[in-house]
Amino acid sequence: MNLPKTGFPMRAGLSKSEPKRLKDWQDNKVYEQVLKKNEGHKKFVLHDGPPYANGPIHIGHAMNKISKDMINRYWMMQGYEVPYVPGWDCHGQPIEHKVEEKLGTEKFNQTSTAKIRELCNEFAVENIELQKAGFRRLGVLGDWDNPYLTLYHQHDAADIEVFKAMFDKGMIYRGHKPVHWCKHCHTALAEAEIEYSDETSPSIFVRFEMTFKPAGLEKFDGPVDFIIWTTTPWTIPSDQAVSLKPGAAYVAVEHEGRAEVMLEDLAPKCCEEFGWEYTPVMVDGKPYVVPAETFHHIHYKQPIFDGVEGVALLADYVGVDDGTGIVHNSPGHGVDDYFACLKEGITDICMPVDDDGKFYTGEEFGTGGPFSGMDTDEANPHIIEFLRERGTLVLEKKITHSYPHCWRCKHPVLFRATDQWFVSMDKTGLREQAGKEVRENVKWYPAHAANRIGAMVEQRPDWCISRQRNWGVPIPSYTCADCGEKVMNDATLDAVIKLFHEKGSDAWFTDAPESYLGEACVCPKCGGHHLKADKDILDVWWDSGVSWKAVCEYRPELEYPADVYLEGSDQHRGWFQSSLLTSVGANGHAPYKAVVSQGFTLDGQGRKMSKSLGNVIDPNKVCDEMGADIIRLWVASVDTSSDVSIDHEILARTSDAYRRFRNTLRFLLSELEGQFEPETDGVAFADLLPLDKLMVARLTQVQAEVDDAYASYEFPRAYRALYDFVVTELSNVYLDALKDRLYCEKPGSLERRSAQTVLAELFSMLMRDLQPILSYTVDEAMAYAPAGCVDHQKYAALLDWYKSPITVDEANEFEGVLEASLELRSAVTKALEDARSAGTFTKSQQVRVKAVVPAEMYALLTGDKAVDLAEFYIVSDVELTQGEELFVAIEAAEGECCDRCWNYRTTVGEYNGHAHICKRCANAL
Ligand SMILES: [Zn+2]
Ligand SMILES: [Zn+2]
Ligand SMILES: [Zn+2]
Repeated sequence: MNLPKTGFPMRAGLSKSEPKRLKDWQDNKVYEQVLKKNEGHKKFVLHDGPPYANGPIHIGHAMNKISKDMINRYWMMQGYEVPYVPGWDCHGQPIEHKVEEKLGTEKFNQTSTAKIRELCNEFAVENIELQKAGFRRLGVLGDWDNPYLTLYHQHDAADIEVFKAMFDKGMIYRGHKPVHWCKHCHTALAEAEIEYSDETSPSIFVRFEMTFKPAGLEKFDGPVDFIIWTTTPWTIPSDQAVSLKPGAAYVAVEHEGRAEVMLEDLAPKCCEEFGWEYTPVMVDGKPYVVPAETFHHIHYKQPIFDGVEGVALLADYVGVDDGTGIVHNSPGHGVDDYFACLKEGITDICMPVDDDGKFYTGEEFGTGGPFSGMDTDEANPHIIEFLRERGTLVLEKKITHSYPHCWRCKHPVLFRATDQWFVSMDKTGLREQAGKEVRENVKWYPAHAANRIGAMVEQRPDWCISRQRNWGVPIPSYTCADCGEKVMNDATLDAVIKLFHEKGSDAWFTDAPESYLGEACVCPKCGGHHLKADKDILDVWWDSGVSWKAVCEYRPELEYPADVYLEGSDQHRGWFQSSLLTSVGANGHAPYKAVVSQGFTLDGQGRKMSKSLGNVIDPNKVCDEMGADIIRLWVASVDTSSDVSIDHEILARTSDAYRRFRNTLRFLLSELEGQFEPETDGVAFADLLPLDKLMVARLTQVQAEVDDAYASYEFPRAYRALYDFVVTELSNVYLDALKDRLYCEKPGSLERRSAQTVLAELFSMLMRDLQPILSYTVDEAMAYAPAGCVDHQKYAALLDWYKSPITVDEANEFEGVLEASLELRSAVTKALEDARSAGTFTKSQQVRVKAVVPAEMYALLTGDKAVDLAEFYIVSDVELTQGEELFVAIEAAEGECCDRCWNYRTTVGEYNGHAHICKRCANAL
C-alpha cells in the first residue's frame, strides 16, 4: 500500500513557529523580494491611514492592518508592484496631554514650546516602535524600516504646500466665530471632533426688565419683562440680546403687578409651571396679544451688569415648542446667537471666558463680574443664586438634553467666539466639487458609504483648521509688531515651505522670522520689518489629510491618487474627509480611486471593549497564545463592512476552522511530498480520469469565486467559498473517495498519477487562495511542497496567482454531471444509512447499488463526462437503469473482500500469504 506521509506537522504550534518565520522574512527581506519580482509591472497602491502613535495596538488596529495585508498579498500574487508604506499620525492633543500629565500642569505651563515639542516627539517615536512590533508580528508585509511619520520635515512642508495651494485659490480665511471649544484640551474643535450625548443641565427662566414699554402697554402701571429661558446660566453675564420668533404671537401675563411677556401658545403651560395664574393683561377690554415685531429693538436691563442694556431681536431659530419662546442671546457663546446678532449689526461681541473655561477677572461688562475667575460649570449655581437674590429668577429646574462633547476627552464643550482660521466650503465651490468626486469618481465599499460621506460633505460647516496647542504644524501666519496686521503671502509661504523642508516645523518656534524670511519679512500695510510668528497650529486632521502629498506624491515608489484607502467608518468624518477636502482643494480631484470602510470591533455580545467590562481581546496576547494566523483567519471570516464581534469563544471556533484548513493541506502534502512533481508526473487535463476532471472543474469554479471576492474586498465571501469547498466538498466527499486509488494503485500508474495531478492542483490553488489569510501557515507548507506547485519559490508571498488548466466556461460544462452525481449520491447515502441502522451492512464497500434514474439524469451519468460512480460513492458497484423516478436499492456486493483494499470484488489469487486478492491489487503488487 502507498501510505500517506509528510513532514508537515499536524500540530501547528503557531505561537512558537511564527516568530521564527517572521525573523526569517525580515532577515531575507521577503517584502523587498516581492517588489523585485514584480518590478516594472503595473502598481497597486493601498495608502495606509496613519494610526495615532499613542499606546499599544488593539484588536481594531489588528483588523485594519490584516485587512490591508490581505489586499496587498492578493495584488502581489496578481503580479502587481505593491509598495506598502505604513504610517503614523504623530502630532496632536492626546500626545501633548500625555506629556502634560507626565510633567504636571504647572511645570508644563512653564516649559518652552520647543521643549514640549521635543518631549512629544520622543513619546511618539517610542510608541511607534511599540506599535510597529505588534503590526509586524501579525504578519503584515511592508516597508517597516521606512514608514512615513507626520512629524517628518517633508510632511511638515507638505502641510504648508497644500495650505498655500488652497490659500492662493481663496479658500482659506480668518474669521471671528464661535467654535466648539474644549476647556480641558484647551483647543477649538472641528465638527468632526464633536460627539453628542445626553447631559443634565440647569434650565432657568429669568425676568429681563424692559427699559421702555412696548406699543400698547404704555399705560400699564408696573414694569414689563421678557421672560427668557436658557439651559446655560453661565452665558447670562455675556448676554447682549434676546430673540423672539418673527411673526409669532406674544402675550403679556399679569403677575404681582408686572407684565410678563411670553409666546402666547406657551404662556398657559409656563404659568402653570411657575405657579402663576394665567391672567393676560387686558388692554381696552382685550387680552394684550401682539406679534413679535412689536418688541423689535426694545431695550432691557442686562441682568448682571447694572447700567448695561440688551436689545430684542427677531430670529428664525427661536423654538416655539419649549420654554417661553424668548431666548437670551450671547453671541460670544453660540453660533445661532452670533449670526442673529451679526444680522442686526451687533459686532462688538462679548466673550468673557478664557481658554481654561474661566471668567476673566473684572467688574465691567466683558469680564466675569461677580463670577470673576470661576469656571463656567462652577459659576452656574452662583449665577442662579445671584438672580434669585435679585428677584429676577422665575424658575429653576433640571433638564436632560443632547449636548456636544469633546471627542477626545469626552467632556462637554462650550462655544467661544475667537479668531480662527477656516477653509471655506462654498466660497470657491469646494463643497460642490468634493461632493461630485464622492459620487462620480470614487468607488466605495460598501457602496452605501458614498451616501454617508456625501451627506457629511454636504452638511458640514466651514472647516476650522486652527488649534491653540503646541504639538503640531503651525499655521504660517505672522503679526506685524508695529501695526498688528496679519501677514501671509506667497513670499512668506514659500520661505516657510523651504524652512520646513530643511529644518522641520520645530524651526517655527526657535528661529526668528527675519532669519529665514529674507525679503519677505515686511508688513505690506505699514512697511515695517518686525514680523512675529503666530502661535496657532493646524488641525491634526490636516496633517494626516495631506499624506496624499507628503507620502503618495513625494515617495517615488507610490502613486497619487492611490488605488485604495481602507479605514474604519469613523474616518468618513476624519481622514477620508480631510484627505478629500485637501486634495480636491489643492488639485481638484480625490486622492483615492476607491475607499473601503470597515465597522468597529465589539465583543461577542456586541458591546464596546473596555477594561472595566473585562472583554478586551489583546492581539499581542492572542499571537502569543494562539498565533497570528488565528487572528488573520478571524478577520477573513467576518463581514468587516459593518461592526464585527470577537471574544474567546469566537476565537476558539476560528481555531477549529483553522485545523480543518491545516489538515487538508496536510492530507494533500501526504500524497504529494516526495511522491509527485507536476512538471514530470502530471497528467494532462484531457487524460485525467472522469472523476478527477470533475474535481478540476469544480475547483476552477471555486477559484473564480474567490478571485472575484478578493478583488471586491469581500473577504468573508472568499473565506466562505474556501471553507465550504474544503470541509463540505473535499474532506467529506472527494478526498474520501480518492483514498482507495491513492493507497492501492501502482505508484506510477495513470490511476494514481491522475489523482495526484488533481491533488496538486487543489494544493496549488489553496496555497494561493489562503496565502493572504493564513500567511504563516502557507509559508510553512512551502518547505514540503513539490517545487512545481509553488513556482519553485521558497516564500509564499512570492507565489503568483493560481491558474487552472481549464477556463471557467469549460468548467461550467461539468455542472450537469456534478449535480446529477451528487443528487444520486444523496439518495445512495440515505439508503446506506437505512441499511446500516437495519443492521444489514456495516461498510459501504459491502454493497452494490441498483439505481433507477430519470432520463435526463441517466443521460448525464452515462454520457461522455460520466464518472465512476462506484468509486465516487465508495461502494462495490453501481448499476443504472432508466425509469420514471429516482429510486435506489441496495443489495450485497458480489465477490468477496479483498485482503488488501477491502473492496468486494472477484478475487483472483494469492500474494505473500494472503489468499484473497483482487485483480487490481494483484496487478499493483
Ligand atoms: Zn477635550
Ligand atoms: Zn505693519
Ligand atoms: Zn484489492
